[in-house]
Amino acid sequence: MGELIRAKDWSKTALGDPADWPQSLCTMVAVMLNNPFGMYIAWGKEYTQIYNDGYRPILGATKHPHALATSTRETFSEIWHIIESMFDGVMKGKAVGFPDFMLPLNRNGFVEECYFDFSYSPIKKHDGEVGGVLVTVIETTEKKGAETALKESNERYINNILQAPMAMCIFRGKNHVVEIANEEMLHLWGKQAEQVMNRSIFEGLPEAKNQGFEELLDKVYTSGEKLVANERPVTLPRNGKAETIYVNFVYDALKETDGNISGIIAIAVDVTQQVQARKDIEESEQRFQAAIEAVEGILWTNNGRGEMEGEQPGWASLTGQTYEEYQGYGWANAIHPDDAQKTLDSWNKAVRERKTFIFEHRLKVKNEGYRYFSIRAIPLVNPDGSLREWVGVHSDIQDQKTREEKKDEFISIASHEMKTPLTTAKAYLQMLELSLDHNNGVANLYAKKACQSVNRLNELIGELLDVSKIRLGKLDYNITTFNFNNMIDSTVDNIQLTSPSHTIIKSGNVYDEVTGDKDRLQQVVINLLNNAIKYSPNAKSVFVTIKQEENMIEVSVKDSGIGIARHSLNKIFDKYHRVEEHAVHFQGLGIGLFISYEIIQRHHGTLWAESEVGKGSTFYFTLPINNNLLN
Ligand code: ADP
Repeated sequence: MGELIRAKDWSKTALGDPADWPQSLCTMVAVMLNNPFGMYIAWGKEYTQIYNDGYRPILGATKHPHALATSTRETFSEIWHIIESMFDGVMKGKAVGFPDFMLPLNRNGFVEECYFDFSYSPIKKHDGEVGGVLVTVIETTEKKGAETALKESNERYINNILQAPMAMCIFRGKNHVVEIANEEMLHLWGKQAEQVMNRSIFEGLPEAKNQGFEELLDKVYTSGEKLVANERPVTLPRNGKAETIYVNFVYDALKETDGNISGIIAIAVDVTQQVQARKDIEESEQRFQAAIEAVEGILWTNNGRGEMEGEQPGWASLTGQTYEEYQGYGWANAIHPDDAQKTLDSWNKAVRERKTFIFEHRLKVKNEGYRYFSIRAIPLVNPDGSLREWVGVHSDIQDQKTREEKKDEFISIASHEMKTPLTTAKAYLQMLELSLDHNNGVANLYAKKACQSVNRLNELIGELLDVSKIRLGKLDYNITTFNFNNMIDSTVDNIQLTSPSHTIIKSGNVYDEVTGDKDRLQQVVINLLNNAIKYSPNAKSVFVTIKQEENMIEVSVKDSGIGIARHSLNKIFDKYHRVEEHAVHFQGLGIGLFISYEIIQRHHGTLWAESEVGKGSTFYFTLPINNNLLN
């Protein structure tokens, strides 16, 4: 700048030839040129400018060198309205100065906000009058920019916290004063902003006191070490009550540029639901384990394909099979050979149909022989409908079976023993009836009644003998081809004779001949009709309907009697089963339907019942017409 100033032809400027410059101006210019800081002189009424190298950058790319010896008014026309009064004030002897003062300068072809620390001070001439303005200046635009950037970055940081999807907050100072906390954090604390902001957290949230958090925060604040905690229980206010929730959280020290810790940033996630869900599963697992121990019998699981998989301690200790032996379908090898195929058939059907599996079979028990078990297995189905696994129980029913066998045996022996004297009694009664005087009405009536009772007794013993024959697989069938329609008609007529209380109404017809045991099938119809009459004491009629559909006959016997509860429907075909509610009012042995079921099954047909309590029951059976029974 010294060179430029010396080279300048000042005579053409407002200042005129330097030889004529006032002494104070010359001194100031010399001082200025030797000063490394930005300095600038605006001299005289025209504010003619002289400046040093330190000032040079303030003029940017466009104002220098034209600014030298030019009026401030011209060079800084864009800010003249701001600085004019200050310049004029200086000319009147009033110095001014400002830190970080903003001036919108156009010095690089565009207007930019520039910041300066500056002072304007008067330069006096020897006569004491102010000759010009001395400007000392440091541009602070860059510093200001850094400050702004820092401020913005801080704001962004705070915004990030406020908008974070997890609970976040900043504690300041050793008392952990809440400086920033986002909505999520306020929600977690169960507090409003005004209750906690700018206060120590333990003042704003006294509920969190004495739960160990003071120590944790103090430790992070003093050591600077990050703390990570998972599933930490904490009791906090929720809807007016104290509630324990579970949180995962991180405390991290906030360090200043000098390394000092000034606060803690906390991030927390409420994981109560997950923890609760896991606890529920653990509890249910515990209950399941208790159930396993509580059930009489052993519990096992099979996969969706019906195979045993993994450890099955119950099964292993019951059967003595090794892990390798029972895997897959190996478990079937523990079943009695006579029961194995039936079990597998029924099991595969249950797996296919995903229906509860109910079965009985004999199983080889470790260190013992075969024992009878009843099995119940329940399929567990995935939400998508696929079969996940089976949970099954084997319950030992050997003792019950033994008792039943003994009972069966006793009944079998007793009925055999009774059969002979009864047959004899019946023969003598018939002879007695024949030898009676026809005119003795009372004696004839007594004999007839005695005959009827003996016949009924004979029927009962016959049924009991049938049961023991079924048990031994020795119920004989006499297969012929007969007119089904006639058989039904004569059965209806016979029953009608002995049951005047009800009218039996038959409808429908079967045209084809049927192959089967006529007497046994008649026994079924008699049983169904007798039951229909017996269990509908207040009704007047019973309906028998027969029909033929292609290769199938269907028979139904319908009454409007007391009906059968749903849960009993599948049991009434069991041996000796009598519906409890009926047993007190109606006599019977509970074997008629058991025998009927067996007979229909042997004819490859099906027997079932539909019923509603109080409305009546309908028993159905179907028979195939060509059933190959003759072959
Ligand atoms: P029972 O000799 O007891 O009649 P069954 O084997 O014929 O023996 O019937 C078994 C049980 O089924 C009966 O005890 C009765 O509770 C019920 N039952 C059978 N038929 C009917 C019916 N038509 N209405 C209501 N309950 C019936």
